Amino acid sequence: MLILMKSGATPVEVEAVARFVLEAGFRVDKSNGSGPVMFSIHGGSTELDVKRAKGLPGVARIASIKTAYKLSSREFKPADTVVAVGNVKIGAGQKLAVIAGPCSFESSAQALEVARAVKQAGVQLMRGGIYKPRTSPFSFQGLRDKGVGLLAELKRETGLGFVTEAVDERSFDLLEEHADMIQIGARNMQNFELLRRAGRSRKPVLLKRGMSATLEELLMAADYILAGGNEQVVLCERGIKTFASHTRNTLDLSAVPVIKHMSHLPVIVDPSHGTGYARYVPAMALAAAACGADGIMIEVHNDPKHALSDGAQALDLAAFGALVPRIEAVATAAR
Ligand code: PEP
Ligand code: MN
Repeated sequence: MLILMKSGATPVEVEAVARFVLEAGFRVDKSNGSGPVMFSIHGGSTELDVKRAKGLPGVARIASIKTAYKLSSREFKPADTVVAVGNVKIGAGQKLAVIAGPCSFESSAQALEVARAVKQAGVQLMRGGIYKPRTSPFSFQGLRDKGVGLLAELKRETGLGFVTEAVDERSFDLLEEHADMIQIGARNMQNFELLRRAGRSRKPVLLKRGMSATLEELLMAADYILAGGNEQVVLCERGIKTFASHTRNTLDLSAVPVIKHMSHLPVIVDPSHGTGYARYVPAMALAAAACGADGIMIEVHNDPKHALSDGAQALDLAAFGALVPRIEAVATAAR
């Protein structure tokens, strides 16, 4: 059970509610995010007197949620969440959002060339890694601090919205001002301090599914962000580790309808990391549009053969341009 306090609840009111629950014999955990205070109630040998609890000053809502994930659940919020990123709305009832760009921004010239091409293809949101979580410390790590200024430059030149990844609290601080959406990648899905930092932000967050995470774990990770008071969360299926080695990861497209059943949050699909090979990306992008994804994130490079990261899975500019109208046709047909 959750007790949600009003955003204007005073410390005395918060304290009184905690005391009421403890005296009734329950254990209580208080969220320590930056949003309104929430109590999660556990244990107890009898039912909590909900009627009395509801009447306590400062209490906004009492929600009995049976699943382990709470704030991200449909039970908690039946209506679909729609997240606004730049000029684009992502979520149920909206046009399928396409986010495209290189795995990494490598230089101003490379970023600008890809930005102009994706804009030409009709896309309004661009991706590009500045801080890159790489498996090996000897692989390209992104432009890092000296790449942050690119966001303002690209935005000025193209008017696109930008999605880029924060790998820790420090990079989050640096990217927050200029990014339109901050990505938390698969490797950081359970970096709880980073999730808390995202919860304190009011920027939309793209939370990618960890490579061995269940959907329950993904939604509990989203709860960290929501508990901080940031309701602008979009989930991303990007493939999971399985015994299969014909693709880089196994793209679990069934996650899309299942997440939509479990949660009110929008969900997008990343067929680039999901397959690892450019030749399979179009088929899985179309499949994502067909199975009800709210968006698709695709890696696109002006020169995939010489990309500093993930070249094998990047579409070249022409292949991407040819794919966009096909994605739109499938999304329209699947509505
Ligand atoms: C990425 O989107 O660049 C990325 C690193 O993805 P993931 O976290 O899904 O591996
Ligand atoms: Mn990548």
